[in-house]
Amino acid sequence: MKCRKLKIDGFYLGRFDYDSEAVAEIKKFAVDSKINSGFFTIIGAVKEAVISFYDQEEKKYFSKELKQHMEIVSCTGNMATKDEKIVVHAHACFSLPDGSTVGGHLVSMRIFAGELHFFPSKDKVERKFDETTGLNLMDL
Ligand code: ZN
Repeated sequence: MKCRKLKIDGFYLGRFDYDSEAVAEIKKFAVDSKINSGFFTIIGAVKEAVISFYDQEEKKYFSKELKQHMEIVSCTGNMATKDEKIVVHAHACFSLPDGSTVGGHLVSMRIFAGELHFFPSKDKVERKFDETTGLNLMDL
């Protein structure tokens, strides 16, 4: 495992606006606040979401649209840069009315009500393409 110590620059609590798209909002917040990396969690509820699954053999993401109201059981993610652009990487687990859950790599989620807990850093963490996995991994 490779590790790098980052300097955390405060702690933000955030509340998403109704009907906003969370991944786009986090990217915009990072650009506006000059944040280069960080870690976050989100709790709340969504109107709909898009998740994906990475097929390790085909090295491709397969997306699934979840067009229903769901609770955000857990959503964790981080932020880094790739080619000078902010990249948000998050995974989410949602619960359905019957208590079952569905989750995966988060592509987008339309917020009903959502709270953000964000630990930002001005330190830069760049993502680089990794031949073995076919993914843009953090270069630590
Ligand atoms: Zn992922």
